[in-house]
Amino acid sequence: MNELIFRSLDEHKRALTAREYSSEELTRAYLERIEEKEPSINSFVSLCQDRAIDAAKESDERRRNGAPLSALDGIPYAAKDNIAVAGLPLRCGSRILEGYISPFDATVISRLKSSGCVLLGKTNLDEFAMGTDTETSANGRTKNPLDENRVTGGSSGGSAAAVAAYEAPFTLGSDTGGSVRQPAAFCGIVGLRPTYSALSRYGLVGFSPSLDTIGILSRSASECADIMNATVGADSRDATSRPFPASDLRALIGKDVRGMRIGVVREAIGEGLSEEVLEAMQVATDTLRSLGAKMTEISLPHLHAAYAVYYAFSSAEAASNLSRFDGVRYGYRAESCGSIEELYERSRAEGFGDEVKRRVLFGNFALSGENREKIYGRAVAMRKQIIAELSSVLSRCDLLLLPTASTHAYRAGVKKSALYCKDDLLCTLAALAGLPALSLPYHRDGKLPVGIQLMGPAFSEDRLFSVAHLLESALDRRESAK
Ligand code: GLN
Repeated sequence: MNELIFRSLDEHKRALTAREYSSEELTRAYLERIEEKEPSINSFVSLCQDRAIDAAKESDERRRNGAPLSALDGIPYAAKDNIAVAGLPLRCGSRILEGYISPFDATVISRLKSSGCVLLGKTNLDEFAMGTDTETSANGRTKNPLDENRVTGGSSGGSAAAVAAYEAPFTLGSDTGGSVRQPAAFCGIVGLRPTYSALSRYGLVGFSPSLDTIGILSRSASECADIMNATVGADSRDATSRPFPASDLRALIGKDVRGMRIGVVREAIGEGLSEEVLEAMQVATDTLRSLGAKMTEISLPHLHAAYAVYYAFSSAEAASNLSRFDGVRYGYRAESCGSIEELYERSRAEGFGDEVKRRVLFGNFALSGENREKIYGRAVAMRKQIIAELSSVLSRCDLLLLPTASTHAYRAGVKKSALYCKDDLLCTLAALAGLPALSLPYHRDGKLPVGIQLMGPAFSEDRLFSVAHLLESALDRRESAK
């Protein structure tokens, strides 16, 4: 095995600049690792080896000529298979997109290409990003590299597992209600859900457009900041995208937290959390306090409603969004149909898996007749209430601290009830309010990692990265002092 894969992204940047090794060598090292790991982990759904090697050679040529496109030129990565890449299959873990090849690049993909990054392939996900464990994919389940009997979390489980298994130094995922942060927590890595609209959604297959974001998975907060720097910013192809106010998201890394006000969400701590998660929250609180932050307990009385509101919104939007998959325009088409209605019905019945069907049914139910007011209307009112509570709390705090999930990765096949359960509320909060949130891992010797979540006001990613970086370093020191 080529040991290069274990080096950090910062180390790769430095070594590629110093021409200690080439992008081709690095890319081949990751491709070999993928070949070695894939039969068991199943984090990738497609690979583009030849394209990757060609792109790496072009990057090496640029470096030889002293004209790299950016500090990331030549760095390999992978993207979740609900993000469009020209010329590659785009399947969203679904049979309904069988055979579909994307004719265009998502904006994040073209931005990474302009930075010189090298795409290795596409990663597995719960069908249409609906799920919490990467077990609902038509491509089969992805296994957690830390313990293959356990789930990776989801829906960006393939992207999280690829980083955790050293198959890629960073990956892209999507986070509608936790799908980057929760698998990051389960796989022991960093996962960022950016401010809604900070990264263009052009080319991300929509699940619930008022909640969807493209997120980043990496080994550290500073690496995550690097990738966000390369992908952030307004895009004329996504009318909801906005320019990011800060020009360098790494700028605050290294600053201390003295005087910073960090709120610990009372309703998020307590009943239902595992012993490790409680310990992680206590250690994070004590560490931040010892670094000079002012830790205060805050209350979000309507937190308990967040997951119900999230499911009403996301299912209603999914029901409408997924109507485009009708057997005519994209991918799978049922055979020998007698009428156009039969073609629609059978293509959708055969093409979608159970979880997607459940959401489409519930979404249409929530929007029909008097349910429109009773379910969807109440969810709209409650979302406003939750946003108001959050903005009042964030006018008194710089950041909030809460767990990412209530436990560590659970056993595969056993916790289907994780869907629609209270576990989701820890991640759906930031999603409903469009706020950025980052999960960083808390490792305890011999145990599976759990996630510590930091959340801030819109466009506070630079602050999130700097606090997460301090916390990472303090937790590492604590671990190595043992
Ligand atoms: N677990 C949530 C769901 O199943 C999150 C999904 C997501 O963020 N894409 O809807």
